[in-house]
Amino acid sequence: MHRLARSALLWSGAYLLLALLPIAVVLLTRPPAGRELGAELGALLGLLALGVLASQAVISGRHRWFAATLGYDNLLQFHRQTGIFALLLVLAHPIVMLSTRPGWLEYLDPREDTLRAVTLILLVAATLVLVASSLWRTRFGLSYEAWRALHGALTLFIVAGGLGHAVMVQHYTEGAVATLLLGAVVGLSLLLVVESRLLRPWRLRRRPWRIVANEPERGDAATLTLQAEGDHRLNFAPGQFIWITLGDTPFSLQQHPFSVASSASDGKRFAFTAKRLGDFTNSLPEVAPGTCAFVEGPYGTFVPDPENASGAVLIAGGIGVTPIMSILRSLRDQGDTRPLWLLYANKTWEDATFRDELAELEECLDLDVIHVISDPEPEWKGESGKIDEALVKRRLPRDDGRRQYFICGPEPLMNAAEKALIAQGVAPTHIFSDRFDIV
Ligand SMILES: Cc1cc2nc3c(=O)[nH]c(=O)nc-3n(C[C@H](O)[C@H](O)[C@H](O)COP(=O)(O)OP(=O)(O)OC[C@H]3O[C@@H](n4cnc5c(N)ncnc54)[C@H](O)[C@@H]3O)c2cc1C
Repeated sequence: MHRLARSALLWSGAYLLLALLPIAVVLLTRPPAGRELGAELGALLGLLALGVLASQAVISGRHRWFAATLGYDNLLQFHRQTGIFALLLVLAHPIVMLSTRPGWLEYLDPREDTLRAVTLILLVAATLVLVASSLWRTRFGLSYEAWRALHGALTLFIVAGGLGHAVMVQHYTEGAVATLLLGAVVGLSLLLVVESRLLRPWRLRRRPWRIVANEPERGDAATLTLQAEGDHRLNFAPGQFIWITLGDTPFSLQQHPFSVASSASDGKRFAFTAKRLGDFTNSLPEVAPGTCAFVEGPYGTFVPDPENASGAVLIAGGIGVTPIMSILRSLRDQGDTRPLWLLYANKTWEDATFRDELAELEECLDLDVIHVISDPEPEWKGESGKIDEALVKRRLPRDDGRRQYFICGPEPLMNAAEKALIAQGVAPTHIFSDRFDIV
């Protein structure tokens, strides 16, 4: 089995165990006397919902010890899918319970117990808002920062409220041992949230960086260079990304991911290049040298194997060229001689960020840069249109079964390139994708 598939299987198993922990705790400590099948099934669905929601903190918290080999975008994708699954569990729990014993409807009757009824109704509503705001954030007009704050607050409420509900129902959770163990399982996930949102920025305070240069680039972008203020360094591999916070404090909701664009040869100084897309990236060209910054990372698995003698094919669209620049600049600094091909798609020739430096890199590396322009001037002589199967077949060498392929760009380009490579017989496990629009 391929290393990546093995790793995915292993981490999915670990995740499953975590999500099943609440059920294991209540069943192993003191199994209650049996009830109707529907009631037991409904209760277990509720406990599973609690386990899945509590485990979300492990997946989304950028914990390096959890499944780092699988790539952050894959983990976020998994986080989304398990979030939808948790919503279905939260909804299925009362539906199954109530269809078994309609009398339990009194749980939702404020005249019986106002606090209990309001809390349970709010828990279901909060789960619906949590999932809907994540799936359709931009449709609701929520800024990324507002969504992130709402997401964290709702998750804490749902997990704490779910635990309170499980403990107060006192069926499976009767007795101090079950209550304490269940509290510990859920408490652990809350601790992970505290670690990622409070302790991690606290530690970053001691590792400040300073902007030392800010230069405009083609394609409505700017390159910011950062220098370590102290003995620390960023030990990154070419192709990886970091989370950056600008300003005097790392405790900010304005934390954005960017690929490192510079060579990995110098960990005390690095650069990232950002295209203007919204509030934060629009403000970057105005950032003055001397501004303080905090850097979390590096993260990501979009990294070529240094031992692979077959070289690599790199496919970029627009600003997706940034991690590829880091790869090429690092290979240049190492004096690498392996064959490299870059398919670089842009709307116009003017938009092609780093086009002059790419021409220089062709001189010192065994690199063939193929520009693909979708909206070319009449005098354009190179490739035009979009990256598709015909272009891949015409311009890239035949796959030798060992070569690695790296794709970064807008979603449609990535999907088209992946499809074209697979159609040419490239193994999906040799294709590495870096997605910028993951949220
Ligand atoms: C792994 C990774 C590497 C990236 N590398 C680069 C790069 O090298 N150069 C570059 O120009 N862009 C890069 N991006 C995209 C960059 O992070 C967003 O363009 C930027 O955060 C947009 O913020 P904004 O406030 O300017 O725009 P907004 O209008 O707020 O957002 C535009 C889009 O960017 C995404 N986004 C916004 N804020 C965040 C955030 N805090 N975290 C994650 N996504 C967010 C959302 O999908 C949003 O719809 C990368 C993204 C990822 C995930």
